[in-house]
Amino acid sequence: MTLAGKTAIVTGSTSGIGLGIARGFADAGINIVMNGLGDAEDIERTREDIAARNVRCVHDPADMTRPDEIVALVKRAAADFGSVDIVVNNAGIQTVSPVEDFPPERWDQIIAINMSATFHTTRAAIPHMKRQGWGRIINIASTHGLVASPFKTAYVTAKHGIVGFTKTAALEVAQDSITVNAICPGYVKTPLVENQIADTAKARRITEDEVVRDVLLAAQWTKKFVTVEQLAGVALFLCSDAAENITGIALPVDGGWTAA
Ligand code: NAD
Repeated sequence: MTLAGKTAIVTGSTSGIGLGIARGFADAGINIVMNGLGDAEDIERTREDIAARNVRCVHDPADMTRPDEIVALVKRAAADFGSVDIVVNNAGIQTVSPVEDFPPERWDQIIAINMSATFHTTRAAIPHMKRQGWGRIINIASTHGLVASPFKTAYVTAKHGIVGFTKTAALEVAQDSITVNAICPGYVKTPLVENQIADTAKARRITEDEVVRDVLLAAQWTKKFVTVEQLAGVALFLCSDAAENITGIALPVDGGWTAA
């Protein structure tokens, strides 16, 4: 089966991993509903770049902290493209801080964007996937969905939640030709990671170079950052026929981090 002509919603695809997945999917002929924040002109340039790969691409500005906007996004996508075949729940934010200083409003935001938004998109998309008898839901969790690091309480909590949600939803729709899987990347050099280097240096009282060497890549045995192109390839594999019986997994793409 070819994936060409299918439609994917990729949340948080104006940057980083989501953008890499949107580009990789478009190269495979999948129409894209982009989503995410950013400067309007930058977003339009990115949308044109994706559409230039011979697919339809629209940007939907739904705020992932707003359940009503998420439901509207899925509804618009289904009406506009005729189907919602694939959902990649990718939007995410990070804050690095000791738990006793962690700003409570940031906790709520991280839980909303990194975890609850996945429930809202999945809940809204499953009826469409059941109707058409095929669907793929891919949740971008993290190595921090499997193991912890200090100073990331909200993020680690949300990502562990995503792994539990993935397993549960997968069982519920297993007989509807819908798979639900999580990808657990190690460190990928995106704005999300670049922004936390300074905060981590402060929290651990070390230099930024030491953060990259001794914190970020310390546990990544390959000593290489994961790339967004590699994650696009893994997501495409999970959409393929070969992955029809892969469901409910949390797949590490972490340079050996969780093997040790
Ligand atoms: P990024 O900062 O480059 O991209 C985040 C995306 O989420 C952007 O498009 C942003 O606009 C969007 N976003 C943020 N708040 C939003 C909101 N309220 N509504 C809609 N969109 C919103 O980050 P990234 O590194 O590409 O991260 C993407 C996902 O991958 C996240 O879930 C992150 O936790 C996960 N992840 C990242 C890494 C890494 O090392 N970079 C590792 C593992 C997992």
